[in-house]
Amino acid sequence: MKPTLVLVGRPNVGKSTLFNRLTKTRDALVADFPGLTRDRRYGLGRVAEREFLVVDTAGFDPVAKEGIVHEMAKQAEQAIAEADALLFMVDARNGLTPHDEQIAARLRRAGRPTFLVVNKAEGMNRAVVSAEFHALGLGDPLCISSAHGDNVHALMELVLESFPADEDDDEADEKGPRVAIVGRPNVGKSTLVNTLIGEERVIAFDMPGTTRDAIEVPFERNGKHYTLIDTAGLRRRGKVFEAVEKFSVIKTLQAVEQANVVVLVLDASQEISDQDAHIGGFVVEAGRALVVAVNKWDSVDDYRRQRIKEDIERKLPFLGFAKFLYVSALKGQGIVPMLKAVDGAYAAAMTKLATPKLTRLLLDATLKQQPPRHSGFRPKMRYAHQGGMNPPIIVVHGSALDHVPASYVRYLERSFLEAFKLQGTPLRIQFKSSH
Ligand code: GDP
Ligand code: GDP
Repeated sequence: MKPTLVLVGRPNVGKSTLFNRLTKTRDALVADFPGLTRDRRYGLGRVAEREFLVVDTAGFDPVAKEGIVHEMAKQAEQAIAEADALLFMVDARNGLTPHDEQIAARLRRAGRPTFLVVNKAEGMNRAVVSAEFHALGLGDPLCISSAHGDNVHALMELVLESFPADEDDDEADEKGPRVAIVGRPNVGKSTLVNTLIGEERVIAFDMPGTTRDAIEVPFERNGKHYTLIDTAGLRRRGKVFEAVEKFSVIKTLQAVEQANVVVLVLDASQEISDQDAHIGGFVVEAGRALVVAVNKWDSVDDYRRQRIKEDIERKLPFLGFAKFLYVSALKGQGIVPMLKAVDGAYAAAMTKLATPKLTRLLLDATLKQQPPRHSGFRPKMRYAHQGGMNPPIIVVHGSALDHVPASYVRYLERSFLEAFKLQGTPLRIQFKSSH
């Protein structure tokens, strides 16, 4: 499981700057999907081939008692409670403030591994700058510059050292797809899980040993195996699942990371919300195969059905690669087609693409439409091979490939997806230039 790092600190210490630096490499991998709203509060980071989730708790104020600041503080509290490690940021230029001390007092009680990060330390004497922060009682301060990047790599190596490396789980599993059912509160996730599990044989069920273990429920349906991943606080009580915890962004992100296929549940009786879009955006960013279940279809009339379809098209255009199924978790309608779509998306995400066919398709596509020149050079694409699965990664080799525009990358993606008839998975294209 990828560790979840949570950035904490008073306003202006540089949390978003560090967040952007940590998630930037990942952003470059995600061809810009039109319409994708990305919540800059959580993302995937990568340092030296290690991946992690990073959450920015902007607006965290432990003393606010009401209003929007209080709301944000509540969410930050939840993030702190669920973090694998906390990065507490302070400002080298301002020195230690009473506000820092209040936050530190809160963090000492959290009982989470905490790293004290002194930011904006570029060009300053580390020993001098960090001296006063020892008083916070959170261990040795680490000086960095988020804006310039100084020492950020070393900090991350230190933070990630204590977490076991994520194994690369690329092979298709005979136990079938690992499925995460995600969505905002009240869309019908627990109802759907109970419909899936309830009537079917639950093969084995283990309670987790530690909080870092996810609950997994293997089940069988129509002779096929699936493993359901616990999401967003769904817990089994007696024979049924219910949402016993409040909605958790971090648990949702972790479940998406662990899944092969994500079922995003939407509520047909409500407008599509920003939260729906954010969760969908994260699935795209994580490169997971996706099926969208538009739930509570039983409760809406034809007029409303038309409206919701338009609403989805307008607000979630970046999920166009997925199949949309109209279901009723409550009445058990549309469940079989939904599982068929899960099977299809899984197969697409796990396909093996032969090098000769990939190369032929690449050459066909570039002949049909040449990549545009960049400062006099035309990118030359020579051959392609598969670099990974779930999502399929296609590595294109050639020369002058550093400036292929996003629109052309999308054109190539579309060409590959269509040629291989891959539905339900995003695709990644990486370029390797030999000059
Ligand atoms: P947040 O409120 O904690 O998210 O802080 P921001 O990331 O928005 O940064 C607040 C201000 O500090 C911005 O003007 C940044 O440009 C600046 N800043 C962030 N990191 C550094 C740094 O490493 N060095 C310097 N000198 N300024 C920084
Ligand atoms: P969760 O918070 O996403 O787990 O949502 P729940 O499964 O707890 O469902 C929230 C509410 O929506 C409950 O009152 C359910 O009975 C209701 N609900 C769930 N699925 C359906 C459905 O397919 N049709 C209708 N009409 N109501 C549903």
